[in-house]
Amino acid sequence: MPENIFDKADRLKQLPPYLFVEIDRAKRKLVEQGTDVIDLGVGDPDLPTPQPIIQKLQKTAEDPANHRYSFTEGLPLLRFAIARWYSKRFHVELDPQTEVLPLLGSKEGIAHFPLAVVNPSDAVLIPDPCYPPYRSGTILAGAEGVSLPLLEENGFFPDLGAISQKTARRARLLFLNYPNNPTAAVASAGQFQEAIDLAETYGWIVAHDAAYSEIAFDGARPMSFLELPGSKDVGVEFHSLSKTYQMTGWRVGWVCGNAKWIAALRQLKTNLDSGIFQPIQLAAIEALESDPSGLEEVLATYQKRRDLLVEGLGKAGWKLPKPSASFYIWARVPTKESSMVFAARLLEKAHVILTPGVGFGPSGEGFVRLSLTLATERIQEAVDRITKVL
Ligand SMILES: *Cc1c(COP(=O)(O)O)cnc(C)c1O
Repeated sequence: MPENIFDKADRLKQLPPYLFVEIDRAKRKLVEQGTDVIDLGVGDPDLPTPQPIIQKLQKTAEDPANHRYSFTEGLPLLRFAIARWYSKRFHVELDPQTEVLPLLGSKEGIAHFPLAVVNPSDAVLIPDPCYPPYRSGTILAGAEGVSLPLLEENGFFPDLGAISQKTARRARLLFLNYPNNPTAAVASAGQFQEAIDLAETYGWIVAHDAAYSEIAFDGARPMSFLELPGSKDVGVEFHSLSKTYQMTGWRVGWVCGNAKWIAALRQLKTNLDSGIFQPIQLAAIEALESDPSGLEEVLATYQKRRDLLVEGLGKAGWKLPKPSASFYIWARVPTKESSMVFAARLLEKAHVILTPGVGFGPSGEGFVRLSLTLATERIQEAVDRITKVL
């Protein structure tokens, strides 16, 4: 028997290593010993999905007509509901037939998008630090990822003017994500406009990920990339119900914008999946048509937690920024340690988990990400424990 029979494919070997192995192992050991570990690392809402959405799923799941294969392109009613939501929220008009495509969660669409629009010789411009699927989708498509550092002095927006002519010409796709995970930065119209102008010049596709557009505080209203003139000629926007309606486990999102690239992704997906379970699509419509004021209570909860964390750790001498959007705090490591060493020490000494910034890319070094998706009492407890260790 050839010795490489159990080898995985070469393309999987090219994916970046999982950087949190050590921390995961340490966490598991502590939990097995019965230690109470507070995990500020996860980016998954702790609050439940609103009741009317759950009830819609329950009711429609009873109907045998909903038990069959659905279509990749999704129910027309869902595409209409998405277009209507964009019109109401952003004053962006979308053709539900050609400019909207439901996804099995936006991660699925993001990771598959390079496979649909990028050739192996192309370069893909990827922010660093970033949400991992931009890079893994690029690698799986056989394209070359080019990192664009997100620096604090540039408001965590890539310095697009600093990209060399040579790279700019080879690039086919630019990923952007605002409000940003992990930095919590919000982009301005001017920053988006610069991306659109360069995309027109060099023939880039801009793929903007707006998963956190509704998670904002102090009256902030993050914009859609598609609000800008010319955006639809150069780009698409990924969106999701996951963060807005606490529906991460449901797996429903969408991409909207340029019809050509959406058609390419649809063609790819007809070969990969058979659409979203219909009751989930019907529940998604329920969510999109719900009164937006339902979100206010959720945002007030995140905001209270944010303030508790920022003020609590501020008293301990760790100055954290107060983000205006997303449910993350992106904070400088308050010591001389690397983000990995600092996080490992907090886990060992305080039994609190933070995500080391370097896990999101080399430019994330020097930062850690704290998530606001834990109950207020737990956040207070985390503040107390971290204070003792600092
Ligand atoms: C959570 C998140 C998403 C949403 O993913 P789904 O697959 O729709 O659940 C997308 N982008 C970023 C940056 C995220 O953090």
